[in-house]
Amino acid sequence: MMTITAKINKWNPEPEIIFQAADIIKRGGLVAFPTETVYGLGADALNPEAVKKIYEAKGRPSDNPLILHVANINQVRELVYVNDVAEILMEKFWPAPLTLVMKARDVVPLRTRGGLDTAAIRMPDNPIALALIEAAGTPIAAPSANISGRPSPTDFESVFNDMNGKIEMIIDGGAVEVGIESTVIDITNPEKILMLRPGGMPREILEATLKTHLEVPDLQSKKRSPGTRYRHYAPNIPVIIWKRQEKFPDFDNAAYIGIHEPGLKISSSILFDDIKNFARGLFAAFRKFEKENFSCVIVEWPQDNSGISEGLKDRILRSASRK
Ligand code: AMP
Ligand code: MG
Repeated sequence: MMTITAKINKWNPEPEIIFQAADIIKRGGLVAFPTETVYGLGADALNPEAVKKIYEAKGRPSDNPLILHVANINQVRELVYVNDVAEILMEKFWPAPLTLVMKARDVVPLRTRGGLDTAAIRMPDNPIALALIEAAGTPIAAPSANISGRPSPTDFESVFNDMNGKIEMIIDGGAVEVGIESTVIDITNPEKILMLRPGGMPREILEATLKTHLEVPDLQSKKRSPGTRYRHYAPNIPVIIWKRQEKFPDFDNAAYIGIHEPGLKISSSILFDDIKNFARGLFAAFRKFEKENFSCVIVEWPQDNSGISEGLKDRILRSASRK
């Protein structure tokens, strides 16, 4: 398949590009587009045939449900049963890297929600994404626009590398701001809100708003978010975690990513000046170093617990996991 690529102005997206992309979505095709978290691989969330193509292009297991992206809050009421917790969070935070899992209505195809009785929904904070969803006139199901298991794409080149020839169109909206995926919480039971995946929206902000602790799901509820089971975010070279109180790992031809200078001389490194930029640059750094054929990439383990750290540490841990 010939993949159309189009560079777009983020703050003033050219209508002809948006219309072309929306038309592909309406006709059941796939379009990769930027959000504030990572690039998404979008299809009409209400069209099971279109959604099937997402799973095929990514090589994604079919029981791993997709997030439905909306452009306004009214759209949400048609898709799920909205409770008071949802009202508070949508009103206060959206558009934001915050995904809400709620009880699904029948219009959401089983294929989109991986056979579950719930659906995950979010409003992305990116003018291109919002314009596209609006123009398509349908919620857009969009996982990250990478081959399943690989680092999520945070710029156009990464999407092109994984998806060229497999999808109808890629919109180039430049590098993303957040760099890791949304925080996913299950609010179906307002008495027990579950943190299914840490991400771009910090836990402490949600807990302060809801005046409750976000619980980590037990094994039973873990089954409710199948995506968290699979190997994720991994480059083609091993990821080694370095905790600063430990000896720096000694590998030949290793690359390094972190905030602090490594103890040893290292072949190549990327140093970030703060934790936000670390999260923003992690996946692109993985892709850069695998391309440059380093033997492995050593990643500094962040010491912080606040802000984006919980999500960043989750991604580092999982990219280093062999399973
Ligand atoms: P991504 O691959 O980044 O799009 O991941 C989507 C995440 O949302 C995965 O961790 C999924 O397991 C989770 N998710 C999507 N839909 C649901 C749902 N209905 N219930 C629970 N988790 C969901
Ligand atoms: Mg993903």
